[in-house]
Amino acid sequence: MVLGVWTGRGVEIGSEGLSDIRPPNRSGVLRQTLPRPPAALVANARTRRYDCRVRCDLHIHTHRSDGAHPTLEVLNRARRAGLDVISITDHDTIDAYDEIEPDTLGPVALIHGIELTTGLPSGEELHILGYFPRGFTERFRQFLEKAQSERRERMRIGVGRLAALGHAISMDDVLAQCKGRVINRSHLAQALVDRKIAASYPDAFRRFVGFQCHIIPPPELPPARAIELIRCERGLSIWAHPTPVQIERWLAQLARAGLNGMEVYIRRSNETLQAQLEQSAADSKLLRAGGSDWHGHDPHDPLGSYSVPAERIRQFLSFFPHASRQ
Ligand SMILES: [Zn+2]
Repeated sequence: MVLGVWTGRGVEIGSEGLSDIRPPNRSGVLRQTLPRPPAALVANARTRRYDCRVRCDLHIHTHRSDGAHPTLEVLNRARRAGLDVISITDHDTIDAYDEIEPDTLGPVALIHGIELTTGLPSGEELHILGYFPRGFTERFRQFLEKAQSERRERMRIGVGRLAALGHAISMDDVLAQCKGRVINRSHLAQALVDRKIAASYPDAFRRFVGFQCHIIPPPELPPARAIELIRCERGLSIWAHPTPVQIERWLAQLARAGLNGMEVYIRRSNETLQAQLEQSAADSKLLRAGGSDWHGHDPHDPLGSYSVPAERIRQFLSFFPHASRQ
């Protein structure tokens, strides 16, 4: 079948795709917040040059997935930190967006986003960010409902395996850690620490929770399918926090599957790694994006302590006219 593909210029081109994914129509778009663009972006829009003082963070979590803070608190912090363009990219949920009204944003421009968890046959997980110039459709919401129940099922299997190994942990212990509807590995890790089965959060990941432990089954969604899904939703797919080893192994395949870009500007990076990521993106003709992957658990690491200058990601921003110009 032929699917519509969002090229970012409002052009639809045909492509062979997955048989059970239908392209959305305009009426399928539920809502789209169009906040006022930051003045510095507007001022520079005519020349398509972005002020390097315009600060972006395209990778932020709220308590709707595994972040520490409620959505409005995150927005307040973004405002106080002077961020100009942000995206909330919770794991497999867009629930945070139901709590946002345009007047809660102030001068901060918001790009609709998500971080999808995908699985490889090895058990490894790759995270694919999706950014949506036209907002979210009802069809996408339905897909996420399924993804969330699949997450709960995988966790139930993992908890069962731990119980079979003699560890006194239950599904209720893990659910007690969740503030939103999405359950994930970090909730299990915290439950294991609270139950004194693991000595610390890293210890929990090393012994029980990490994919290498094979306790929680990997997600069923392959990366290529996530990329296709995002494309059918007229969004941009961006590979989250790729490592050099993962790039070596997976980049060519992901690019062939239609990946639009990769995170190049990553907190806890260094100059060597950043240059390597920039080169990889250029070699594969991918967009560059980036953000802090802020979860808010560390009080010494406030939102805004890491940001990406708009100049570095201007090609990405050009797909989001409401964030980059009037
Ligand atoms: Zn993240």
